[in-house]
Amino acid sequence: KKKIAVMTSGGDSPGMNAVVRAVVRMSIHMGCDAYCVYEGYEGLVQGGDFIRQMAWDDVRSFLSEGGTLIGTARCMAFYERPGRLTAAKNMVLNGIDALIICGGDGSLTGADKFRAEWPSLIEELVDNKELTPEQVAPYRHLNIVGLVGSIDNDLSGTDATIGCYSALSRICEMVDYIEATASSHSRAFVIEVMGRHCGWLALLAGVATGADFVFIPERPRDQDWREDMKLVVQRHRKMGKRKTIVIVAEGARDKDGTKITPEQIKDLLADKSEGGLNLDTRITTLGHVQRGGTAVAYDRILGTLQGVEAVKAVLEATPETETCVIAINENKIVRKPLMQAVKETKEVAIAVEAKDFDRAMSLRDTEFSD
Ligand code: ATP
Repeated sequence: KKKIAVMTSGGDSPGMNAVVRAVVRMSIHMGCDAYCVYEGYEGLVQGGDFIRQMAWDDVRSFLSEGGTLIGTARCMAFYERPGRLTAAKNMVLNGIDALIICGGDGSLTGADKFRAEWPSLIEELVDNKELTPEQVAPYRHLNIVGLVGSIDNDLSGTDATIGCYSALSRICEMVDYIEATASSHSRAFVIEVMGRHCGWLALLAGVATGADFVFIPERPRDQDWREDMKLVVQRHRKMGKRKTIVIVAEGARDKDGTKITPEQIKDLLADKSEGGLNLDTRITTLGHVQRGGTAVAYDRILGTLQGVEAVKAVLEATPETETCVIAINENKIVRKPLMQAVKETKEVAIAVEAKDFDRAMSLRDTEFSD
């Protein structure tokens, strides 16, 4: 009987519970044993009670819960080979032959490394006499499948990551709340949202709320963004708008690569000098409310469909199969080479850091094009 384990790793995102529920139930449905690894890679390294067999009923009510009920963690030990060696031993001791990981690009990179190293890890465990050749015989290959859980929608190769629409909805809801009070007092608000390398949340929230101005990392503003923003805000105010909403992603910067902060934007909006905008301005950093709370229907559905597909991918895999990540493209759930998706994602971050914004844009989806 195949033993399939699921874990959540890296930052939590709404919809991860739907993944865990779908993997557990689909595994059982397909006649396999289902396991959960608690606390991400930390649980794999610790072993023992962190790796638990799951029954059908154990994932009841998971769909309507936020975060991840099986926990997630950052695990320093897993970055190093000795940590991965212990993780491999724990997997063999528990008889687990397939691992489904839901996390961000870091978690998926770790997964790929683990699979690539697996034969040598097994060999080392036998050489060290920690496991016998008989014990490791059924586990010559590690079967791994990735799922992308991230609120940022920052993974290349998929239209949506599990959690991004929940975070976007939450941001829109918060902006609506802020707008009511902004209008009442005729105020301006600078709203900071998550996204260090990826401006998807900021950009789409801007579209969904009709914000006056948006700052994202991949399409940096000209050095004279102050003048541009001032003209736009003035124009909107002249049209009778009583509120001003500026949305800024954490990683916003100008074309020089200099960070644009909410404080700088506030200073410009509140400028009392002659010709200044002179608006009563507040900054709101949305922070972790963007991550928390329950998943919207889309993320529950995406997590469920992709969890089911991940189990199918595990059952169809051969030792020759390339490690895949489950993506969604034009409303179809598809399998893609995991490392290519991770590599392309890293290239965007590298291009943004290197101020090669044209390249960053060309690696992004169509939403970011002109
Ligand atoms: P988020 O998008 O929320 O940052 P993430 O999955 O990218 O999620 P990371 O903190 O980068 O989050 O990675 C989660 C865990 O995955 C790490 O704590 C570590 O245990 C493992 N990991 C990440 N990168 C590697 C790597 N290069 N080699 C081995 N393990 C890694």
